[in-house]
Amino acid sequence: MTVWLLGDQLSPESAPLAAADRVLLIEAHAFADRRPYHPQKLTLVFSAMRHFRDELRERGYEVTYLRAETFGEALDRYFASNPGDDLVGLESPSHGADERRRELVESRGGSLTLVENDLFLTSRDFFDEWAGDGGGGDGDGGDGDGGGDGASGAADADRTFRQEQWYRHVRRETGILMDGDEPVGGAWNYDDENRETPPPEWSPPDVPRFEPDETTREVRAFVEERYGDHWGSAEPFVWPVTREAARQALSHFVSVRLPEFGAYQDAMLDGEWALCHSLLSAALNLGLLHPREVVEPAVEAYESGKAPLNSVEGFVRQVIGWREFMRHVYRRAMPELATANQLDQTASLPPLYWDGDTEMECLSEAVGHVRDRGYAHHIERLMVLANFALVYGVDPAELNEWFHLGFVDAYHWVTTPNVVGMGTFGSDVLSSKPYAGSANYIDGMSDYCGDCRYAKTKTTGENACPFNALYWDFLDRNEETLRGTGRMGLMYSHVDRKSDDEWDAIRERAAEVRERAADGDL
Ligand code: FAD
Repeated sequence: MTVWLLGDQLSPESAPLAAADRVLLIEAHAFADRRPYHPQKLTLVFSAMRHFRDELRERGYEVTYLRAETFGEALDRYFASNPGDDLVGLESPSHGADERRRELVESRGGSLTLVENDLFLTSRDFFDEWAGDGGGGDGDGGDGDGGGDGASGAADADRTFRQEQWYRHVRRETGILMDGDEPVGGAWNYDDENRETPPPEWSPPDVPRFEPDETTREVRAFVEERYGDHWGSAEPFVWPVTREAARQALSHFVSVRLPEFGAYQDAMLDGEWALCHSLLSAALNLGLLHPREVVEPAVEAYESGKAPLNSVEGFVRQVIGWREFMRHVYRRAMPELATANQLDQTASLPPLYWDGDTEMECLSEAVGHVRDRGYAHHIERLMVLANFALVYGVDPAELNEWFHLGFVDAYHWVTTPNVVGMGTFGSDVLSSKPYAGSANYIDGMSDYCGDCRYAKTKTTGENACPFNALYWDFLDRNEETLRGTGRMGLMYSHVDRKSDDEWDAIRERAAEVRERAADGDL
């Protein structure tokens, strides 16, 4: 039997491999001509595939590794030597990918049997039984994210889902961090302890570097030659490209950064790109690590007294709550989710998302992190990069493109719910209010505002922080949709207190900020 695995299915433990002796891997290149994907993303995927090929060969599999422009071209070659072959594969989380692959194989005289993707913790049926035909329950807890959506109440039980109830369901059913029927420690989350900013004398713990080996260097040279004009820096490339290196990254995180992960999970510090985040998303999304094996050592660290519960619970929630949730919500909400735009936002992404050229400290830092490493941590993604685009009025699909091409861990199944659902409120499928914030939020969670040329406390006037006027203008422009959500009462009570003169000045400043941002002069 031959198993055809994709570039994000690089696990030697996935079910179909147990009964197989032959494996097909296709390194297709033309897809990356369509968007200027970050060179580190391309190096990561192609290098991880080549290392996986070598690992499988060492394990005794006969591996056909084809480099081609497209899957179609590679399959032409494959079926010329293996006419009528019956392939087995893992389902892809990306919408429409399975149908396309099946057509490609069948039109060349073969067959493709796809089995459920076991690189996630939860199955399709598990989610669908919980969610029923529509929404996932009526949550009553906080969701632990920077924007502070309380995740309560499915706004429309036919088509909306709430993470907090899903997360509790997963914990109950898997027994992870459970004490009988109760959550370990007595609470489902410890958000109140997880919103600290580090003291000035604090310096972040080490981040492991995985220096490129010969295979990675070869791939990097190929990427440089073929995709040299793509956006982002090829160096420093420090991502794990093998399962062994990914496991080292995991154990380093658990012993060194997990203890403070919780407290500083929402924090942002000038010059610090990683803080205490795990940096494991790329390895998880490639299949180098399984979510189960990622949460197990974290829970053990709590049980053996090496990491506090607020950190361990916070991390577990990201992996078994948010990550699994996003994957299923995407599956249920596509294809509409990709183009959802309930606020009718139409602006183009301002040039600062490409050149990082802005005097706004927070945006300049966050864009710089993405350009330099293909990575920014969650709060930079949500409350700086997506938040600015949201209040500025960017088309969610255009922002989704930017996230998709710019990040080492980006795939359509994970950027789309995060960007279109969570980040820009293009859809209310997973959150009942937008994650919009002004300078006040950013100042509370970072040290950016102190040295910024813009004044965090000012809304109007030449040096006022652009976030402020854009934020109020956003609430004003979208009043009809947002006031009605019932979740924005406090915000609209502030809106209601502003005088006509204040609104005139806010609108004028917001228009000026938009114009300057569009001209690359913010
Ligand atoms: P940690 O902070 O250490 O979190 C641990 C793990 O939890 C992550 O590795 C990740 O696997 C998982 N996780 C946490 N939150 C989410 C989430 N909302 N969705 C999915 N997984 C989550 N994640 C991606 O993997 N790929 C993306 O392309 C991506 N795009 C995003 C875009 C926006 C606008 C936002 C708001 C979030 C996005 N995320 C994405 C989710 C999250 O920001 C990243 O998973 C996380 O920052 C990766 O860094 P880390 O491994 O250090 O995470």
